[in-house]
Amino acid sequence: MKVAVIGAGAAGLVTAHELLAAGHEVAIFEQSNRLGGVWAFTEAIEDDLLGRRPSARIHSSLYAAMRVNLPRDLMAFHGFPFDEPVSPEGDARRYPHHSQVLAYLERFAEISGVSEYIRFGRQVSHVEPAGHWLVDGERFDAVAICNGHYSEPYLPHLPGFETFPGLALHSHNYRRAEIFAGRRVALLGSSVSGADLSREIGDVAQAVFFCGRAFRQAPPLASQRSRIKRCPPITRFQDSTIYLAGGERIEDVDAFLFCTGYRYAFPFLESTEPPPITVRHNWVQGLYRQLIACAQPTLALIGLPFRIVPFPLFQRQARWFARSLNGCFALPAQTERRLERAGEIRAWRASGVPQRHYHFLGDGQIDYLNRLAEQCGDAPVPDWFTRLWTAHNRHVRRHPNDYRDRPLPGN
Ligand code: FAD
Repeated sequence: MKVAVIGAGAAGLVTAHELLAAGHEVAIFEQSNRLGGVWAFTEAIEDDLLGRRPSARIHSSLYAAMRVNLPRDLMAFHGFPFDEPVSPEGDARRYPHHSQVLAYLERFAEISGVSEYIRFGRQVSHVEPAGHWLVDGERFDAVAICNGHYSEPYLPHLPGFETFPGLALHSHNYRRAEIFAGRRVALLGSSVSGADLSREIGDVAQAVFFCGRAFRQAPPLASQRSRIKRCPPITRFQDSTIYLAGGERIEDVDAFLFCTGYRYAFPFLESTEPPPITVRHNWVQGLYRQLIACAQPTLALIGLPFRIVPFPLFQRQARWFARSLNGCFALPAQTERRLERAGEIRAWRASGVPQRHYHFLGDGQIDYLNRLAEQCGDAPVPDWFTRLWTAHNRHVRRHPNDYRDRPLPGN
């Protein structure tokens, strides 16, 4: 089949590789002039620091000092380790700097041969089913959407925020802590980026108020304790005062950072009638196995699940999609696909999972990967992978502030 791959990030590269290995033809559309997606770091930021209406969207959300949050041997595509330093000056640490990941992906694209299929500077604006698929007018038999999900900032509604007179930005447009030097900074969002950035900013700010609901990360380092304060969620703003749940307030805030995550967005499908998928409360509806459009199995969305190990998951999904196109295994009929999906939704509802968490896999990723592997006739996830995932999670819980610089026990 002739397959269009949208995006040349980690997902697009490995998808193209699996499609080629299964004997398909591919064309990779990449809007920028670089491969690597989020890992193609840039110092550039958007003119609208909240990312609501930038005149030009910047794709990468990485900050300059960022190091990976998974051990790189766990993070790598299977069969393509990045344990050995990529270059003599490469970062050989187990949780390396982000530049090492870009070098890894460049090497993967080169060695696997997929780089020659990338059409740079080609932003896909319209994908339409017409028996086959039309991608900006060009005919394809199938489409793999690999456009990434960490570029469209999610901004929760905060009453009174419009009265805030200070510097305000989303972590998407954060690169370095210096702009916060000497300021009283409030951050909202207690997940990975909130924890990382509160520590970075805590080194230079006068005070950091780290607001959020459930803190998965430990308190700040002892050296920063006097400057970083954990606070409950925000109820409203009034000028430079922030009111918190429970009645406390923070006064004289002069900078505010949203670490509130991102939204799924597929602008090139918006004018497609009927839409093969829809997004509601950050849940991509209409999918079978979190992966193909239930009604149109030649359309795949690679990499939607979160709280996972992304690269190996992309690889298994891509292999499954490539082989399903080949007819290597029989896809259940559409009615059965819909029934399976309806069953999943019932189970989520019964256990009170909010819609925005329907793509959350966490430990469930192992079963998910094994189901894909089984249909492909592949070996299940190796034991070392499950063990390392568990050990890494334990390690982060024990040493949330400096897990990247400590040896992983028993591994
Ligand atoms: P992306 O890397 O976003 O690539 C998508 C590509 O599609 C881009 O090149 C983009 O330009 C292109 N594109 C988009 N729209 C179009 C269009 N219309 N037409 C043509 N091209 C288009 N993962 C880890 O494994 N370990 C980590 O430590 C880690 N840390 C992270 C830290 C941050 C701050 C962020 C934001 C993410 C992190 N991730 C991490 C997750 C990371 O996003 C995934 O690992 C992975 O790189 C995502 O790959 P992707 O190909 O799905 O998307």
